[in-house]
Amino acid sequence: MSGSQQVGDVFAPSLEFATVANAGPELQAAADADRLAFWDTQARRLDWASPWSEVLDWSDAPVAKWFVGGELNVAYNCVDRHVLAGNGDRVAIHFEGEPGDTRSLTYHDLLAEVSKAANTFTDLGLVAGDRVAIYMPMIPEAIIAMLACARLGLTHSVVFGGFSSHALRSRIDDAQAKLLVTVDGQWRRGAPAPLKAAADEAVSGAESVEHVLVVKRTGIDVEWTEGRDLWWHETVEKASDQHTPVPFDAEHPLFILYTSGTTGKPKGIIHTSGGYLTQASYTHHNVFDHKPGTDVYWCTADIGWVTGHTYIVYGPLSNGVTQVVYEGTPNSPNEHRHFEIIEKYGVSIYYTAPTLIRTFMKWGRAIPDAHDLSSIRLLGSVGEPINPEAWRWYREVIGANSAPIVDTWWQTETGAIMISPLPGVTATKPGSAMAPLPGISAKIVDDEAHELGHGGNGYLVLDQPWPAMLRGIWGDMDRYRETYWSRYAEQGWYFAGDGAKYDEDGALWVLGRVDDVMNVSGHRISTSEVESALVSHPAVAEAAVVGAADDTTGQGIVAFVILRENVENTGDQLVKDLRDHVAVEISPIAKPRQISVVPELPKTRSGKIMRRLLRDVAEGRELGDTSTLVDPSVFEPIRVHRSQG
Ligand code: ATP
Ligand code: MG
Repeated sequence: MSGSQQVGDVFAPSLEFATVANAGPELQAAADADRLAFWDTQARRLDWASPWSEVLDWSDAPVAKWFVGGELNVAYNCVDRHVLAGNGDRVAIHFEGEPGDTRSLTYHDLLAEVSKAANTFTDLGLVAGDRVAIYMPMIPEAIIAMLACARLGLTHSVVFGGFSSHALRSRIDDAQAKLLVTVDGQWRRGAPAPLKAAADEAVSGAESVEHVLVVKRTGIDVEWTEGRDLWWHETVEKASDQHTPVPFDAEHPLFILYTSGTTGKPKGIIHTSGGYLTQASYTHHNVFDHKPGTDVYWCTADIGWVTGHTYIVYGPLSNGVTQVVYEGTPNSPNEHRHFEIIEKYGVSIYYTAPTLIRTFMKWGRAIPDAHDLSSIRLLGSVGEPINPEAWRWYREVIGANSAPIVDTWWQTETGAIMISPLPGVTATKPGSAMAPLPGISAKIVDDEAHELGHGGNGYLVLDQPWPAMLRGIWGDMDRYRETYWSRYAEQGWYFAGDGAKYDEDGALWVLGRVDDVMNVSGHRISTSEVESALVSHPAVAEAAVVGAADDTTGQGIVAFVILRENVENTGDQLVKDLRDHVAVEISPIAKPRQISVVPELPKTRSGKIMRRLLRDVAEGRELGDTSTLVDPSVFEPIRVHRSQG
């Protein structure tokens, strides 16, 4: 196992890791020399049926065309070519069901399953360009359904299995999906929970839907609509496993995916084929240092989110990965589950979100310490800024003080990782995403589009198009232009909506959403910095900070904290300690006006803290759009604490 050398708070890659790393300094050099030639080279990671005439056509900005005229089949690249290269017997997916059932699919098996599903979809009358909604838990059939769509040029819209029938219906209507793929029920904390019932509710009266294809996962009773509903095991499983893929244009739409709705109404983001797969494959190879045939990779995201699309399905499978797919929650049947899985399969690359790392911290290190995690050689983080304290804990406890951490910044809209250290190349700092990847260009600017130097908090913009960029918002190109391209229209920059800064060493820090930067007596303070200060106090497991309107200071800082397991809430004394701690860590200006200890924080289904709703609470308003919230009842104790506060 290769370690990294720590000097102060900088972790330099070890020589051992650097020597064998996929990435090297030549990547940046090549991208600097000629960015488009660099992407041209990266696109050759894939198998194309016909070549492109131009790398980028930006003449219709902000709608890009990458690899103009090139043709490929995305599923062929993720499945067939590994079989044809002689790797058909390699395991693609180690599936671990929540109740403990397991199943391993080789690339050969995956090819047969995807072919069967593609033949069934064709029999149902679907043709390239049609949309398919997928509403499923984390089971292999979900991935098979996505790949079957890709194989046929059908555009999938995966809807997270935890969403309500209402959320599903609005996404089906928006995309006018003809087919819905779902399950009878899903396993949740040891019990089957119905899913088809919600699917039925969503589909009733949805005129676009012709068929509902149902995988039997739990065996629970379901309602059945003859003529519309079909069992997977009576159709797909009986179909021929021979299917010849045809190539599609590089700009053929691959999927629509709705953003997680942290900042407002979800947007249906459109991604296409050639550029998307190129960047998915390139980033997965270099950022995760993935070695096909030896690594065991595990991305803990759900396929309902973009991380599941790009780093469970398209990036890893295009690179011939062997990966773990786990159906359940991290604490079923108990808090050891993830660590048992790592130990069982010898997971070497583990990619998760800060919210889970903080949950592990709250549960305590005795749990991971009870397992042999020595197979781990690289750790990843995505979804929110990772607090330095959580970063250090992750590296020390899960990474045996030696695994490099890649903190990867990207969005549903960017399609793939944009800002991240390159393991073996970039020296890292806890909490910093470090730098744009080779081939990617980003700037930190102020309102007037001036680039900011070290220390200044500004807006993160992407000043050059990139291959995996979104091509629009489904059915609403005006909203596309308005949301991302109007802020810096003159410069033609993509406005990411996140705040960021460079530190004195030139490391890039993402500070969270622009709305989450507070203005306290004229000082711009980021919510994530105050949260990190609170989390660095031994009593605190998680913190959410918002700026609430304040007559004297403009905004006042309001914090909600969850305590670590076995920490006693000493009331006023604890609050005083925490305020003093923030004063020492950041500055007395950053002391929260108010701190409430709460049992839970409101989170999106993808695990992000919904600060806009906490701001509504802090300012005594009605709650805004809660449609993507996990559990709206979390607000009851929060409101009580607030009124006592
Ligand atoms: P919506 O756009 O509907 O409000 P969302 O932004 O939560 O939802 P995603 O596309 O899933 O939907 O999330 C992207 C956002 O997540 C980024 O804009 C950023 O705020 C945050 N993010 C992701 N990764 C990181 C990271 N490594 N560091 C800091 N922030 C991150
Ligand atoms: Mg967003």
